[in-house]
Amino acid sequence: MVKIHYLPAKNCVFYRLGFCIYPEVLNPGYNQSFQCTILLKWEEEYDQLLDKAEVFGLELEKVEKIWTKKSNTRYEEIKKCPHFVEGEENFCRYLYGYTCLYELPKCKGKCKHYTLAEEG
Ligand code: SF4
Ligand code: SF4
Repeated sequence: MVKIHYLPAKNCVFYRLGFCIYPEVLNPGYNQSFQCTILLKWEEEYDQLLDKAEVFGLELEKVEKIWTKKSNTRYEEIKKCPHFVEGEENFCRYLYGYTCLYELPKCKGKCKHYTLAEEG
């Protein structure tokens, strides 16, 4: 049987660090399993904080202060992810919006969705 070899696709508009963002771009935010689990956890924690703030009648400014105070702890937490690699502004390099590139399929080379990225 003939083995098919696909051409490299690093210049595809959907190519990110070896992964393909096409499924996420097609339906942004639809597939929760693509999302960074750490960000999802923080989102839940922030919602819980807002709920508490409502109970205690705290203003949003105070809520933001409480949240910001724990930034360092959160930074330590995201570093514990086994795939974490430091990127811009202390965030993970594999973060694409709310999506974790590791949860997306790997690009195996030029496929039918291949689209040449514009240069510049
Ligand atoms: S070539 Fe296909 S699999 Fe590779 S990044 Fe582009 S769309 Fe995704
Ligand atoms: S690799 Fe990065 S983006 Fe993916 S789950 Fe871990 S911290 Fe989030």
